[in-house]
Amino acid sequence: MPRLDAKTLIITGGASGIGAATCRLAAAAGATVVVADLATQADHARQVVADSGRHAVFMPLDVTVEADWEQLVDDTVARFGRLDGLLNGAGIGMAQDIESCSLDDFHRVYRVNGLGVFLGCKHAVRVMRASGGGSIVNISSVLGLRGTAGTPAYAASKGAVRLLTKNVAVHCARHGYNIRCNSVHPGYIETPMIASRLTRSVDNMTGRQHLENLHPMGRLGQPEEIARLVLFLLSDESSFSTGAEFVADGGLTA
Ligand code: NAD
Repeated sequence: MPRLDAKTLIITGGASGIGAATCRLAAAAGATVVVADLATQADHARQVVADSGRHAVFMPLDVTVEADWEQLVDDTVARFGRLDGLLNGAGIGMAQDIESCSLDDFHRVYRVNGLGVFLGCKHAVRVMRASGGGSIVNISSVLGLRGTAGTPAYAASKGAVRLLTKNVAVHCARHGYNIRCNSVHPGYIETPMIASRLTRSVDNMTGRQHLENLHPMGRLGQPEEIARLVLFLLSDESSFSTGAEFVADGGLTA
């Protein structure tokens, strides 16, 4: 596992799933970790902090609120001296198709998954630039790479994250900021986000069997399998990678 000693990281969505796994592994790799999530997730976040040891703190954040981002980023720098890495991991899903998705539904998903990542990149670049560089990782999805029926707001938001990532990467590289920005595209990962889909029956199969069959490897991913990729991208081991798409999907898009 890459070392992250002396690095200060913000992990959004840090109270659950992929974000929580990233917090735990990053702290074990020597990073100081700010577990950022909704105030309503404080109990889960505090458990992640406890699991991560003395290297982690919880700071509440709603990724859709710019004032929250300003405070989170500025408090992190005030407390730890700098910000070296950001994982934009917070996200929500909604299983609807184009005919049933209302404008409000679309806005609700897009605000968290799209606008939230934009705000995170914007405020991270502001402080990373001032302290000499950093690495931003945005969680997209296989649904940000290829078409599928259903989840129009989710797919649109994840596609937007893919190209926003490239835009931030090229801007920062061209300006010599030493800030890298990459996207990660997971297949279906066993987290609370997809828990209700595992028990629902689809085509005479359990939801779990249906989702497992989508992956040539015949299984779902585990949060740690995405977290290890994120750690690589947050570390100096990935120093020549920016604006790139990293897929971890058991062969789903192969
Ligand atoms: P999860 O539901 O376990 O965790 C998501 C976290 O985001 C939660 O802790 C939640 O409180 C937080 N969050 C939601 N809205 C927020 C807001 N407005 N402000 C701050 N935090 C907020 O889900 P997960 O599976 O760990 O998802 C993590 C990321 O991975 C998401 O972006 C998701 O879209 C993406 N992803 C997940 C899968 C999967 O199959 N689980 C696949 C591809 C991509």
